[in-house]
Amino acid sequence: MTINLLNYDGKGLVDFCTGIGEKPFRAKQLLRWIHQYGTADFDAMSDLAKGLREKLAVQAVIEFPQIITDYVATDGTRKWLLAVGAGNGIETVFIPEANRGTLCVSSQVGCALACTFCSTGKQGFNRNLTVAEIIGQLWIANKTLRSSVSDNMPAHTNRAVTNVVMMGMGEPLANFDNVVTALDLMLDDHAYGLSRRRVTVSTSGLVPAIDRLRERCPVALAISLHAPNDALRDQLVPINKKYPIKELLAACQRYLLAAPRDFITFEYVMLAGVNDSITHARELIALVHDTPCKFNLIPFNSFPGSDFKRSTAETVRVFRDVLMQAGLVTTVRKTRGDDIAAACGQLAGQVKDKTRRTAAVRIEAIQ
Ligand code: SAH
Ligand code: SF4
Repeated sequence: MTINLLNYDGKGLVDFCTGIGEKPFRAKQLLRWIHQYGTADFDAMSDLAKGLREKLAVQAVIEFPQIITDYVATDGTRKWLLAVGAGNGIETVFIPEANRGTLCVSSQVGCALACTFCSTGKQGFNRNLTVAEIIGQLWIANKTLRSSVSDNMPAHTNRAVTNVVMMGMGEPLANFDNVVTALDLMLDDHAYGLSRRRVTVSTSGLVPAIDRLRERCPVALAISLHAPNDALRDQLVPINKKYPIKELLAACQRYLLAAPRDFITFEYVMLAGVNDSITHARELIALVHDTPCKFNLIPFNSFPGSDFKRSTAETVRVFRDVLMQAGLVTTVRKTRGDDIAAACGQLAGQVKDKTRRTAAVRIEAIQ
């Protein structure tokens, strides 16, 4: 059976190399060719002996998802739909800004957690992505961004990826092992060499997995909070019934012990008449008073079949000001790429739902 080398981090490649009778340092060379230079062709790996290249050509492949569509929005946001087999597709979004380029990466085909305001959650769940499919998104983005430098696009829209956020389709911590192996590659100096603070995992709050991430790979952590009390959060983020707010905040405190100079980013989707009042803002302030944190308010992005409405710009401004006056750093996320349905919560991909169950039963199935 041929082995896809895109599934291995540095350690995995060392094991692979020694397994085929090669020296461990070959792993570093392979990492650089595959991830830094974006090469999928063993023949082009000129500092590997010919014998090794031939061996690799027989035993291994470098295979990544196939691009189905590649759209660029008027603001430069770029969205790829990638085929991952059996009729399933995932989405990856590149957000260029003046001083950085952020890639929003998917971790699952669909999502089992069924948050009521999320397009991915409405679609059900098919399967976890492999390491190759997760890191393949970064590989493809870097390669296509670099090769389109000559297009008639503003220069900054062609910048390669400097930051990664695991905020695409799926719940990254429900696909723990593969996500962490992909994170290893993002941080590895011989692969993408991103610093720990430039890689963010966003989670709806799987408490045991937050603890495991802290021990294994404490990158920047974003928590999808969305409500200041359990009664409301139970409705919006159903996993809250299993891991209520108090336990979630305790996990955040523990996380910061591993990354003491860091802070938690709380994401808060602004839903008109649901969670956007001044009373909600005051409740939030009391809730997080002993957690070093920042708030990121996300204006709700609608999608076909959604039940919610976006809070008005004025409501968002007032809400932000109340948090700021209490000393909480608060940003409002700019809605990017909504003309190509690439904004937060709009990623739909192509999900062949395997669960066909109610949200409650799906959540029971998560450990
Ligand atoms: N599953 C992870 C990461 C993916 S979602 C999580 O839930 O954190 C990335 C962010 O987009 C989350 O904060 C999510 O709650 C938010 N989001 C989901 N649907 C949205 C929508 N329709 N409008 C705005 N933000 C949304
Ligand atoms: Fe899943 Fe995150 Fe969407 Fe909730 S918000 S359904 S956890 S992708």
